[in-house]
Amino acid sequence: MNVPYNYLHEEFKNCDDIFDEWKELIQTTDFTLGQYVKEFELIFSNYIGSKYCVSTNNGTDALILALKACGVGPGDEVITVTNTFYATVGAIVACGATPVLVDCDSRYQIDPIAIKRAITTKTKIILPVHWAGASPEMNLVQELAEENNLIIVEDACMGIGASIEGKSPGTFGLIGAFSMHPLKSLNVMGDGGMVVTDDSEIYNWMVKYRNHGMIDRDHIEFWGVNMRIQPLQAIVAKHRMRELDKTIAKRSSNAKYLDDNLKLLSDFITTPKRLDGYQETFALYMCLADRRDDLLHFLTAKGIEAKIHYPVPLHLQRAALNNCKISNNMQEAEMQSKRLITLPVHQYLELSHLKYMVGAISEFYKT
Ligand SMILES: *Cc1c(COP(=O)(O)O)cnc(C)c1O
Repeated sequence: MNVPYNYLHEEFKNCDDIFDEWKELIQTTDFTLGQYVKEFELIFSNYIGSKYCVSTNNGTDALILALKACGVGPGDEVITVTNTFYATVGAIVACGATPVLVDCDSRYQIDPIAIKRAITTKTKIILPVHWAGASPEMNLVQELAEENNLIIVEDACMGIGASIEGKSPGTFGLIGAFSMHPLKSLNVMGDGGMVVTDDSEIYNWMVKYRNHGMIDRDHIEFWGVNMRIQPLQAIVAKHRMRELDKTIAKRSSNAKYLDDNLKLLSDFITTPKRLDGYQETFALYMCLADRRDDLLHFLTAKGIEAKIHYPVPLHLQRAALNNCKISNNMQEAEMQSKRLITLPVHQYLELSHLKYMVGAISEFYKT
């Protein structure tokens, strides 16, 4: 049996409804921004529960746009977590600010205690990441931000469709950034991103910066850039939104099956704690495994496409040598980078795939 990690060909098996709307778009020639983008933005902000949103061409630009909107620049420190995707830290560096990397907790989320230790007079932003589509303990992050008068910008790139007590990632701070990359919960057949905020001034600035700082065709208010989403992608997004909750429900039930069954192998495998009231997207299903690299090879040989996210935490990357401040205790992230394994959990897996996977893992540890 094969248990593939990649499911993208399944997702668009039937997309006549998307093609129909693309044909309409082609008639209108609304190829940059325009009504289709507007319509999707409205649907998205309603779904997330934020007053305003601005779509962008990817999640990385969404993060850069959010940080720039807060006035982040040279001399400012931005605290984030070392076990995240490159783009979180790349966005900080792109703004000329200094990334301050801290450790994660046992749920692979940024550790509020580590944030607290890293705060200095130069700290401007706390940038928590909703890693793997799970969420940090945002109430603690919010307390720290309030006590120290810091801004929260959220990297909710994997968090579209997640929630804490019904509240979406991206709505806990001043601005939240999302990605619609093919491997995130909302896949737009290419790149796409979004920022959300409840602050009208920030919104007005972001909407202009995304489009050259323009107020109208002949006038700009300030220098901006082009971060626009493609209308073709906005249409895909609108259609895929209808399936989003169903997708997440299926991924959650797959994850629940894996959690329940891997707990029976707790001598070898550690699953993360799932907090009450936290709905995860399961963008990644991760657990800690003894003899991880051997297990990965064993599973690969059995046709199970497991992965590692990631074997090298960002503070150990060569890129981090010169321009990052690194907290001196990275024990948890370093331990996890040697033990983490990511198992397929996507919405097209059947019970038989899950059983086969659990069976293979037990076989590995029992022989
Ligand atoms: C995917 C991702 C990004 C970047 O998003 P892109 O749309 O690929 O630019 C940033 N941060 C995290 C945590 C991500 O998972």
